[in-house]
Amino acid sequence: MEIINRRQRMSSVSRKVRREQDRTIGLVPTMGALHDGHLSLVREARRLCDVVIVSVFVNPTQFAPGEDFERYPRDLTKDTAVLTDYNVDYIFAPSPEEMYPKNFSTYVTVEGLSEQLEGNVRPGHFRGVATVVTILLNIIRPDFAFFGQKDAQQTLVIRRLVRDLALDTEVVILPTVREASGLALSSRNAYLNEEERHAAAIIYRALTRAESAYAEGERNGTKLAGIVRSTVETEPRARIDYVSVTDADTLEKLDKLNDRTVLIAVAVRFGQTRLIDNLVLNRKDGAK
Ligand code: AMP
Repeated sequence: MEIINRRQRMSSVSRKVRREQDRTIGLVPTMGALHDGHLSLVREARRLCDVVIVSVFVNPTQFAPGEDFERYPRDLTKDTAVLTDYNVDYIFAPSPEEMYPKNFSTYVTVEGLSEQLEGNVRPGHFRGVATVVTILLNIIRPDFAFFGQKDAQQTLVIRRLVRDLALDTEVVILPTVREASGLALSSRNAYLNEEERHAAAIIYRALTRAESAYAEGERNGTKLAGIVRSTVETEPRARIDYVSVTDADTLEKLDKLNDRTVLIAVAVRFGQTRLIDNLVLNRKDGAK
């Protein structure tokens, strides 16, 4: 395994893999502090592709001033050890200056999808995500790129970006990996103290209560959101940022769900830590 820090080296390595060796490339973009959620993506990339590249880059442009960019957990040594065990071929770990050279001034905005939910609370977040993903896909030109359903809105933004800009990569979305308590794995869980971590399991309990109500025939979006909200509110440490019930593809707010595929997405704070999670109901392909 090689750790690559330079854009140019990364481009030339992946060009060689594609052209001279005619091998397929899978890219798993991450911000590091790897956990089993990330590793589920790496495992699938390993299964589907000849060469696996994991990028580890805490992307400054997707953090707003005052967010946790500086204190975001970073441990490249540990991440490298884990990825070696997973038989990854390359880690791409550029510095911010390498990714955003002097006078960097070109950004990618996915309009509409970027402004709701997370985008509403974190203006500029998806512009940062779309920009860094475009750069990564252009440097590496992977056949497949792997993302987690945990970041539901991000998956929609990236699918739209890849389609609109005709990028030659297939986007693969994989299910959310959870702790036994139901808490979705996240690098930010490291910020939680023991009580908060325990309390945070309320998020998934609330989502599954809404899922049960849906299974029993509830088709009113406002009522489903109410079930999630009132369940989360039973936990005194939880402070809700938003609970939304939308069309799973367009993020259009839904009241009557009918037979639409529905995304229930939430953001909840525990102390200083902001967690997001979601469930998709009535997915047409049967996946979770
Ligand atoms: P991050 O390092 O948080 O930017 O995440 C990198 C990738 O891992 C993104 O595509 C995330 O959606 C995905 N990911 C993060 N947490 C999970 C999880 N619990 N289950 C599945 N995928 C995840």
